[in-house]
Amino acid sequence: MDDHEETGSGERDDEAGTRAALGTASAAPGEVARGWFEVAELPTGAAERLPVVVANGPEDGPVLWLTGGVHGDEATGVAAVQDAISTIARDALAALSGTIVAVPVVSPAGLRRNARHTYYADEDPNRHFPDADAESARPPKLQERIDARLYAAITGGAVEDATGVAGRDDADRDDADREPVDPPIAESAGTGVVADALIDCHTAGVGSEPFAIRDRVLYGERRSEDDAVALSDEIGRLVDAFGFPTVREYPASEYVDERLHRSTAGAVLNEAGIPAFTAELGAHSVVDDGLVEAGVAGISAVAAELGLLAAGEVPEDVGRPADHLGPAPVEFPVRRFRGPTTDDSGILRHRVAAGETFAEGDILADVVSATGEERGTVRADRDGYALGRTEGLAVYEGDPIGSLAVRDDGDLVVPREDDA
Ligand SMILES: [Zn+2]
Repeated sequence: MDDHEETGSGERDDEAGTRAALGTASAAPGEVARGWFEVAELPTGAAERLPVVVANGPEDGPVLWLTGGVHGDEATGVAAVQDAISTIARDALAALSGTIVAVPVVSPAGLRRNARHTYYADEDPNRHFPDADAESARPPKLQERIDARLYAAITGGAVEDATGVAGRDDADRDDADREPVDPPIAESAGTGVVADALIDCHTAGVGSEPFAIRDRVLYGERRSEDDAVALSDEIGRLVDAFGFPTVREYPASEYVDERLHRSTAGAVLNEAGIPAFTAELGAHSVVDDGLVEAGVAGISAVAAELGLLAAGEVPEDVGRPADHLGPAPVEFPVRRFRGPTTDDSGILRHRVAAGETFAEGDILADVVSATGEERGTVRADRDGYALGRTEGLAVYEGDPIGSLAVRDDGDLVVPREDDA
């Protein structure tokens, strides 16, 4: 098994399988290749390029994408993607039916500053992936173009501009105000690397519990309810295999308001219809080795669920996700909730730690004055458990005090029209 830094295209394939290539990483069946995928030109003359590792099994099969580092300070996500692809490439390549494509650092500009945002426009790079329903009169800026180029490689479809995906039947859309962009801002890229599934590895706030986010699937003009149900079931299967406590994403209106349908996993799922989910591997900024191991076990279990690996071919020392993680603190379905919010400004004193459960009406935190006198309390309005506490001691009225997992009675497939 070769381990190329750079490989030219057009090489002869001796085996029955298909070559898999993205950027300069080109792997014949049974090979691993490492290289770079150029996504933009920098003013300094060099290219902005994403690191790529392609592990191509000897037999054809599904394509699993692993992405990390779209937020440049989310260290454990980057390490988990690096270790998962390296472990499978080293210990299980011969048993692989299909291809794993890993992009451990989706935002090099965030990595350079060890920060969530890039310096291009100091915006969140994970909210600029294509959305055909977005309405924007202005031409796409650099972050949208970079995200579109990665999205085109993942999905295999060109992106016409940041608000439209070329090749889609747009007959029903009112295109009167849209300027045609020619050529498209992103062409499909690569060979044999169109995703059948994607795991986007992140970390959450300070002291956060690990969890996997199951997005709701939107239906309407571009996807039938039946197709949405089938897609949602498929994500459920993969998230269950991943083995981290599952937290459903915000309700659909908040999801769209927060532009989460334009995140990496959100766009791949809700725009392209490819099963995708976000993994939150604990807290940001410092690699958590235990959660890297849990992430590698989860990714390997998803590869097995997809049929890329027989269950017995997962390397023994990787283990199962449950070997590395405890079960979810509650048994009922939960969703993400940023809150509740405080009515008082002051100093925040939490009463519930990450991972602890609470019931509706319990006091989650006190707000005290700087002299330590009680100013107010913040109570839970639903049952659930704390994913993490809001960072910082000072709070202002209207600030959320935590990131919670609260009881969810909502649907997993939701009409988009009602929520846009
Ligand atoms: Zn993130």
